[in-house]
Amino acid sequence: MTTSTRRILVVEDEKSIRDAVTAYLEKEGYWVTPAADGLAALDAFDKHPYDLVVLDLMLPKMSGEQVCAEIRDTSDVPIIMLTAKGEEEDRIAGLEIGADDYLVKPFSPRELVARVRALLRRAHVGEEPQRDRLEYGELSIDVAAHKAFLGTEELDLTASEFKLLTTIARYPGRVYSRMELVEKVLGYDFEGYERTIDSHVKNLRAKLRDDPKTPTYIYTVHGVGYRFEPPKSDEV
Ligand code: CA
Repeated sequence: MTTSTRRILVVEDEKSIRDAVTAYLEKEGYWVTPAADGLAALDAFDKHPYDLVVLDLMLPKMSGEQVCAEIRDTSDVPIIMLTAKGEEEDRIAGLEIGADDYLVKPFSPRELVARVRALLRRAHVGEEPQRDRLEYGELSIDVAAHKAFLGTEELDLTASEFKLLTTIARYPGRVYSRMELVEKVLGYDFEGYERTIDSHVKNLRAKLRDDPKTPTYIYTVHGVGYRFEPPKSDEV
């Protein structure tokens, strides 16, 4: 499949991080515009269409949250927030004001690239056929047939567990808040049901023999929700 070059706006005041992120994304074939503050970022955003924005939360002149809100006024471009450790509440706020994902510093460039890819895939999902089969290490999911296997063993999943697994496994690396999973998996949006998601996750983990302390597939994102990661190659 050929795709046109995707354009990414990187907003980060710390030069070393900005340069590193720009270099890694360029190496992956993306067309990158680095911006050192929010005003420069909004200026660039006005001038060119972007496919994705990497946005630092703590910026001079204008906070990342303000930049995010301004962008959201006119665009639903995917946004990845960069936050420092200990800014958990800010992170949640970031997701609430419309960021799609976030990374906590220090992060590995590989992780950033994986998140960028996952978000771009999701944003352009209408342009690509939805995969009917998801395979990650031992785990394989036949979406159309509603079956999941660990090795050759078919997993006995409830409808909700299957929906939960396919939802998070389709976009590895993406963080799903509990509320979002309630909506996507259970189809309603009452706050009280967030605990229901926790128990579905607990049951699903047991069936996948996935230990929450040393997960192979499903990771807890404290204070937010969950994300799926493919098993590391040395664990397969
Ligand atoms: Ca900063």
